[in-house]
Amino acid sequence: MATTTQKDYYGTLGVKKTATAEEIRKAFRKLARKYHPDVNPGDKKAEEKFKEISEANDILSDEKKRKVYDQLGFYSDQIDPAQAEAYARQQAAGGGRGGRVDFEGFDFSGFGGGGFPGQQEAGGGSAWGSFKDIFSGIFTGAQQQQRQPRGPQPGSDLEYQATVDFWTAIRGGQMKIQINRQEVCPTCHGQAHTGGPMQCPECHGTGQVTQMGGRMKFNIPCPRCNGTGRVTHACPTCHGEGTVTRAETVEFRIKGGTRDGQRIRLQGKGNAGVNGGPAGDLFLIVRTGAHPVFTRQGDDILLSIPVTVAEAALGAKIEVPTIDGRAQLKIPPGTQSGQRLRLRERGVENAQHPGQRGDQIVTVNVVVPHLQDERSREIMRELAKLNPDDPRKTLFEKL
Ligand SMILES: [Zn+2]
Ligand SMILES: [Zn+2]
Repeated sequence: MATTTQKDYYGTLGVKKTATAEEIRKAFRKLARKYHPDVNPGDKKAEEKFKEISEANDILSDEKKRKVYDQLGFYSDQIDPAQAEAYARQQAAGGGRGGRVDFEGFDFSGFGGGGFPGQQEAGGGSAWGSFKDIFSGIFTGAQQQQRQPRGPQPGSDLEYQATVDFWTAIRGGQMKIQINRQEVCPTCHGQAHTGGPMQCPECHGTGQVTQMGGRMKFNIPCPRCNGTGRVTHACPTCHGEGTVTRAETVEFRIKGGTRDGQRIRLQGKGNAGVNGGPAGDLFLIVRTGAHPVFTRQGDDILLSIPVTVAEAALGAKIEVPTIDGRAQLKIPPGTQSGQRLRLRERGVENAQHPGQRGDQIVTVNVVVPHLQDERSREIMRELAKLNPDDPRKTLFEKL
């Protein structure tokens, strides 16, 4: 009778099948303290026991592994929980034994190689078909993962932040940025290999390798050579990637009026493609620099300007800086501190609509004089007497 011993991990740890993660952790720790090789030097039995509880803990403390084990009665990293569940469901639907896989009496040698010599008994019956289907599905999945000759693959896009100083963002200009990008490997020209096919070192040319599933052995197609038994020499420069990472200085043009946060796309300046695939694009996110006097807000320029009490009270024509030189600004009589005055079309020319400019918005900041002499203070008191209005009057009326 063919028997594959299923390990009872729950029994090993002495917990119920419904044990919580915490219960499993506690049980393991308790047993680990008892059987740890440090505590039992030279004790082969304790060492064996410690291995067993460690294995049980490795499977049961991992949610995914535990799921697979619960469904199949063994664990293999080739099987994910969904596949295990699908199989258990199939079993249950087909009148299987309680949704659990019973491997007794199976002939695994039919798997192409056979892990159980001399165990050729017939048995298992209808379960065989679904079992084989599930596992052939797993094997195909494994084959798809490895990198063997691929078709052209486009390179990925890159994104970098580019700091552009205040004036270049407004007036435009040429900029440079240093980036790291993947280039086509100069040694193998993107082929990823040098030299012709040779025997696969993984399977020694047989095209098959042995895979463990619990205590069972399966022969599966070699993932390294895709079951062909032959491999090519990986390129020593790019280690079989076909691309190498290089620092590169990229030049780009900044349009006048470019705003903070704007994206610039440089076609084909991203990572190189593989096997003749096109390169990705490089995206630059513009970060515009600040200025000590001007503040940019979209196409408008903001500026705060100090004026004297006399200029604010009587009105005045003053000079203010703009992004293209000095300009005259009329301060109307009775201008208050904090008031905003607009210089039309003295802002930034719009990048999308040439000829269309923003405004310069000037915030008035009234500067109160420090009166140093008695004569000035006298005049101020006289001025106050002539203008007795209380500026806080309306404030109190609203209460
Ligand atoms: Zn191989
Ligand atoms: Zn190469």
